[in-house]
Amino acid sequence: MTTYKMETQLTQIGNGFDELGAVSAPIYLSTAYRHEGIGVSKGYDYIRTGNPTRSILEKAIADIEGGEEGFACSSGMSAIQLIFSLFKTGDHIIATRDLYGGTYRLFELFAEQYRLSFTYWDGADDDTLASLIRPETKAVFIETPTNPLMREVDIVEIAAITKKKNLLLIVDNTFYTPLLQKPIADGADLVIHSGTKYLGGHNDLLAGLVVSNVPEITEKLRNYHNSYGNVLAPFDSWLLVRGMKTLALRMRQHETNAKRIVDYLRSQLLVTKVYYPGKGGMLSFELSKEAYVKPFLKALRLITFAESLGGVESLITYPATQTHADIPEALRLKYGLSNSLLRLSTGIEHPDDLVNDLDQAFRSLKKGVPVHG
Ligand SMILES: *Cc1c(COP(=O)(O)O)cnc(C)c1O
Repeated sequence: MTTYKMETQLTQIGNGFDELGAVSAPIYLSTAYRHEGIGVSKGYDYIRTGNPTRSILEKAIADIEGGEEGFACSSGMSAIQLIFSLFKTGDHIIATRDLYGGTYRLFELFAEQYRLSFTYWDGADDDTLASLIRPETKAVFIETPTNPLMREVDIVEIAAITKKKNLLLIVDNTFYTPLLQKPIADGADLVIHSGTKYLGGHNDLLAGLVVSNVPEITEKLRNYHNSYGNVLAPFDSWLLVRGMKTLALRMRQHETNAKRIVDYLRSQLLVTKVYYPGKGGMLSFELSKEAYVKPFLKALRLITFAESLGGVESLITYPATQTHADIPEALRLKYGLSNSLLRLSTGIEHPDDLVNDLDQAFRSLKKGVPVHG
């Protein structure tokens, strides 16, 4: 079989599936499938257990991430929840500290309700990671680049430790997508996506994906996915496939635009720090005064102040009160997530228009705004 490059694999998802030759794969809404006799099935019985449209998506993400099997879930959070059904009371998990706020909130809930325990580490120092491992440690959970400080965590180095200590390595690959990072090839066991972000890509869909590359774990996840029922609906599965077809094209423009904006921000006097890992479409920056945040957001005309990322429209987020509001302020400030930090998800608009929008907002600040904002 020919192995195609990822751009081709993405574009071709679902093509060739339909017996009538439909290029865009059909959406199967049926909840039930007729059986020719007892114990005779064409592979599908009941919608929660398996759905042909969802299967196309699950197979595609498994192939693209280079894993064994994929599971499509109703949201990124439910994808994380699916993986966490592998753990039991008393288990310990080490996670990167600079996490998506909703993930942190879910971990706090697991700690409270199921007595899982969590240790957060900066994702940088392997010796520190090794020293945090206890007999009851079961997994290392990382987001790379970290969110919102955009630090890259070295998956290969961490995998060397988790393999030696027999721990699961779970990577949230939402920000880079498989185009920019292949966690399984780097040694991860499980990959998570919020399909709501780059894979969907149009700010119009909630979805999550898990890819497993460990046979015993895959077996368990298949059972939990069906048992809990946190599965993705057929229409949403189709919508996610449609989004993924243009991922490569979109990602190139996201990155071009992000680089242009980073250059602009680095020359802007009212910006004290710019966080950009050198690839992808996500960046963060710090304004010189917290009091500038409010008028700056208000002055933007094209870039939308809204809480998500990875779509064709540029969105700007204020992590302190939005995505990361559930992380205690003292903890946030300690690791560098300040109250002057803004996170920008660059869309695929023309870069000149994005830079001009930022520039007119900065000019309005310089004209003088009340410092109490
Ligand atoms: C948004 C997000 C999630 C949660 O996904 P939902 O689809 O919103 O449930 C998890 N991880 C990261 C990195 C995210 O950005």
